[in-house]
Amino acid sequence: MTTAAPRRAAIPAGVSLDIWGTLLASDPEFKPARNRMLRDALAPGVPADVFDTAVRAADRAVDERCVRLGADIGFAGRIEAALVALGLPTEQVAARAGELVAAQEELALAHPPRPLHVELPAAVSALPMPVVLTSNTGMLPGELMRKLLVPAGFGGLPGVFSNEVGVAKPHPEVFAQACAVLGLPPARVRHVGDNPDADMVGARAVGMTAELVRPDGVSTLRVLRGLQP
Ligand SMILES: [Mg+2]
Repeated sequence: MTTAAPRRAAIPAGVSLDIWGTLLASDPEFKPARNRMLRDALAPGVPADVFDTAVRAADRAVDERCVRLGADIGFAGRIEAALVALGLPTEQVAARAGELVAAQEELALAHPPRPLHVELPAAVSALPMPVVLTSNTGMLPGELMRKLLVPAGFGGLPGVFSNEVGVAKPHPEVFAQACAVLGLPPARVRHVGDNPDADMVGARAVGMTAELVRPDGVSTLRVLRGLQP
């Protein structure tokens, strides 16, 4: 009797792709420029390098909290966490959030993220099944991400963004919305991402199949080519 499991899962009917670390990397000039802008606006007395380090550390710590709790904490919450770490008041963040988000958008469009591998946009376009982008947005909301995806070569793809869902991967609602966008039951959708908890645990918990990639672009390219019939 030959009942050995197949070496790889069947080709799925739809694909959900994480963005950061799976398809895109940020421009190395973006975060320093954004953090300088935030320092000038919110904490001009703090040395630029100290402020930059505090924002990066807060961003990472909040990312970990979001994955642990399935909660979405966006731009204002992350800046507030950095200010708290610096012993500064946070009231002005909420009051000035609109202005600061607009300034961030201008800098992000001037230093847009790039595909992790130059062949990734074509590899996504060549997929023979529908695709949805399923992303925890962090400080860059979905509204801005849709604009940034265009020059990166991923324009026009539908997206499910955590700040718009109100919860973050691995929360099942994010994956449920991704499957709804594809119009497919979870069991027929493959999620591809670089985070073992947010992407793998989250997708599998709702019944999707999931494939982990390394955040180097080559790994994603290999997975996408494996989805060709
Ligand atoms: Mg990622």
